[in-house]
Amino acid sequence: MLQNISSILPVGVTSAQIRARDEVCSKHGAYVAKLGLRDLWTRCPQCVAEEQKAETKQLLAVMQAENQAKQKIMAVEKAIVDAGIPKRFRDKRINHYVANTAEQKNAKSFAVEFVKEFETEHSGRNVVFHGNRGNGKNHLACAIANAVIERFGKTAHFTTANDMLRRIREAKSFDSNVTESQVIDALVSFDLLVVDEVRILNQNSEADARAFFDVFNARYAEMRPTIFICNGDLIEFEKSVGDLTMSRMKETGGRPWNVLFSWEDYRK
Ligand SMILES: [Zn+2]
Repeated sequence: MLQNISSILPVGVTSAQIRARDEVCSKHGAYVAKLGLRDLWTRCPQCVAEEQKAETKQLLAVMQAENQAKQKIMAVEKAIVDAGIPKRFRDKRINHYVANTAEQKNAKSFAVEFVKEFETEHSGRNVVFHGNRGNGKNHLACAIANAVIERFGKTAHFTTANDMLRRIREAKSFDSNVTESQVIDALVSFDLLVVDEVRILNQNSEADARAFFDVFNARYAEMRPTIFICNGDLIEFEKSVGDLTMSRMKETGGRPWNVLFSWEDYRK
């Protein structure tokens, strides 16, 4: 190979001389370019180093962004689990909700509007999802809670009326390490509270009815919405929550405070 190059060079010029030449980089000044692989002249070493450094930086930024995105997803997943959303409903989203009938479409558009309010400051309006067991009340309520967490980074909590009242009752006992007002404060603190199985209330005591109103009323004062799920009709709901809660429920500025889920069992 060397012999071949030497044979075509002018007399007195050696192959060693032609494999390096002086160049000037407009940015870094003089450098010696060398003939490298595939007969390409090497570029300014400082430019090459700078480019490599920039590429590394870019790669790191991409990796960091991916990492952050992954952490954000994990944080959202954790928030959904922490919110007490039952496992069955953790992956439910409003757009998964199949709406064929006018009632179903009404329920779905209610959910969309209700969630949209969290973008700014929620009006604090409350709602009861009522109707026969099944029918996707929990699906839609949990999808709303998931959206509130996922899209707006807000807090939500899912509980049954029974569970909520049991926690308040237990806090009253001597050996409890939390006070009743601490439990109520915690329930009030969530941006959205979903209370399932409200019907069970009317079988409980006066103290329970008062505790229930205390939570609802404090949330109402803070303009934090509550979604109630009642597997019965509105008469049954009113009997469960009492007149005071009921009259507060209706203060929604003309917007719906109840959504009927009356079609055939949703899960069939
Ligand atoms: Zn350069």
